[in-house]
Amino acid sequence: MRVNYMKMSDQELLKSVQGAVKQEKKLTAIVLDHLAEIERRKVYCDLGISSLFRYCVDILGYSEAESAYRVNATRLVSSSPFAKKSMEEGKLSLSAASKIFGHIKQEQKRGDGVVLPNQVSKIIKKSEGRSTRQLDLMLAEISTVPVERKERVELNERILKKIEKLRKIYGERSDLEVLEMVLDDKIFEMELSKPKRTSSITSENPRYIDRAKREHIYARSGGQCEYVSLKTGKRCNARLHLQIDHINPLALGGKTEISNLRHLCFAHNQRAAITVLGQTKMDRYVDVTVKPKSQIPGKTLQGT
Ligand SMILES: [Zn+2]
Repeated sequence: MRVNYMKMSDQELLKSVQGAVKQEKKLTAIVLDHLAEIERRKVYCDLGISSLFRYCVDILGYSEAESAYRVNATRLVSSSPFAKKSMEEGKLSLSAASKIFGHIKQEQKRGDGVVLPNQVSKIIKKSEGRSTRQLDLMLAEISTVPVERKERVELNERILKKIEKLRKIYGERSDLEVLEMVLDDKIFEMELSKPKRTSSITSENPRYIDRAKREHIYARSGGQCEYVSLKTGKRCNARLHLQIDHINPLALGGKTEISNLRHLCFAHNQRAAITVLGQTKMDRYVDVTVKPKSQIPGKTLQGT
């Protein structure tokens, strides 16, 4: 039923909007619950999409900024029941949750990878009632991470045109992201051209993928995730953090042969592991919160 706001008294209008905002906050919490479960199962992988962020942008139609808020907030509420409760009660906004998650992620990277739940709830309690700027100042005060070194680089028209051409390969991304991908690809190529390890122990390891095979896979994939969605026919366009995956896992008799190897991004490698090993087993590893890389195995232990 359509409400005629023009006929409402001032008091009715103010009361009505308060009710709507309350509902909006509850709905946001429900959206985050959905996103957390989608991330746990990595369902978006089947659509040829490599991250929850891209799923939010490409399928749910949020802007990149809106998506970043939701993805970060999802990770925070998934790792902290206190954050979830605060969000449901409307005490924690999406942007505050996103900023707090960013802070925790930085702290985890710096330390031993563990931020205790009571530390998270302390930060959330402390953040209540603060404006965005006040929250930024508060997080900067308690941060143990040194300020990141940043250099301002001016890109002239010639370089911008080259970046524009590269978007055909790397997709619609910011100039900075395209540049980072190009650098990553170059570093990856350099890693490939390093002298071959000749240890007999390594070459006898069934997981060991020699340089020739790595080069072959790289040439075939073009440095892009090789997953193609059976539902949409869309190939995943992820180019970062690629891992070499055994299509038929070693544990099930798969061999380390070109025909059984493929380049997958982290998300698709994890989704493949969930499919093969089962969600319950992988829940120990497929965590929506941040973990040190060493604690997260993929289906293939030997990645690129
Ligand atoms: Zn992928």
